[in-house]
Amino acid sequence: GTAAEKHPVPEEYLELNSGTLSYNRKANATFVVLARNSDLENTVRSIRRMEDRFNRVHRYPYVILNEVPFTDEFKKRVSNVITSSVEFGLIPKEHWFQPDWIDEEKATAGRKKLEEEGVIYGGSVSYRNMCRFNSGFFFRHPLMLKYRWYWRIEPDIHYHCDVNFDPFLFLEDHNKIYGFTISMYEFEKTIPTLWGHVRDFMKLHPEYIAEDNAMGFMSENNGETYNLCHFWSNFEIADMDFWRGPAYTAFFEYLDKQGGFYYERWGDAPVHSIAAAIFAKKDQIHFFDEIGYEHNPYTHCPKKEESWERGRCGCDRGRSFDYDGYSCLSKWDRLMEG
Ligand code: GDP
Ligand code: MN
Repeated sequence: GTAAEKHPVPEEYLELNSGTLSYNRKANATFVVLARNSDLENTVRSIRRMEDRFNRVHRYPYVILNEVPFTDEFKKRVSNVITSSVEFGLIPKEHWFQPDWIDEEKATAGRKKLEEEGVIYGGSVSYRNMCRFNSGFFFRHPLMLKYRWYWRIEPDIHYHCDVNFDPFLFLEDHNKIYGFTISMYEFEKTIPTLWGHVRDFMKLHPEYIAEDNAMGFMSENNGETYNLCHFWSNFEIADMDFWRGPAYTAFFEYLDKQGGFYYERWGDAPVHSIAAAIFAKKDQIHFFDEIGYEHNPYTHCPKKEESWERGRCGCDRGRSFDYDGYSCLSKWDRLMEG
């Protein structure tokens, strides 16, 4: 039988999800996981947690991507914990590997410099491929094209609370395009020239800059300098129509041409965050306080006690990253209050 026949939705969940929750509606959405075959155990763990806390009720499909084919073992083990459906996809070479026009001497020098400076993944080419793929290509993968919304999952992340609502429908119903749980400062050494290119792009394309945008989250001086704040992109629930639209398409192409994904070590987190903060209105970006989330070494635990209780959260509210000096959440709160 189909997955839905094998795993009928328990009655009590329909009851739990009555009232304001609209279980019977569904967004055009998928989970997306980028993983290596060696990430098998941690991928199974992440998906188990997502199924237990959310998806065994909501039954959204999964797309799992890799630049090499997944092994039969990987596919079997992962499929076994999923109550909905899953597609395993191969990433096209031109979406993953360093392009020919990158000056390899300059790229080698850039890696050597960051490695010597002790920057995490400073010397890694594969990490750079991953960051560029997550910045500009995952939403163009053939298996992703039929979906509008995605929820990104990484191997070995934790969901600490029941998600008793549908975050995709929440974003859609409120005309939002991007949701986050953790924000923080980027390592400046990974993006020394990025902000200059962002400013050049804004001068070339003022038509893409949104009114009432979230520039105030990222800059204390109206865009002159970047304060390094960004949304941590290992958790993202967002609208791929935004990434596929004219502003982000032009933005990514412009940045890609500068070569900074390879000459420096630009992350998909600052690239996505800067775009969302400039090309969308600030109220189109949403902080999901009620979603308890952990990616080593940081945890977001709901601030509101009532959310923590309703979600049967296992995390310690007092240790939420929100209160860490390295978190940018207070800047976000100030922007949204002001
Ligand atoms: P970190 O969170 O910045 O420390 O980076 P991760 O190692 O967690 O990588 C981010 C995401 O990309 C995870 O989903 C990884 O499984 C995935 N990833 C990283 N490098 C590669 C790679 O070379 N190949 C594939 N297929 N996935 C990768
Ligand atoms: Mn990670």
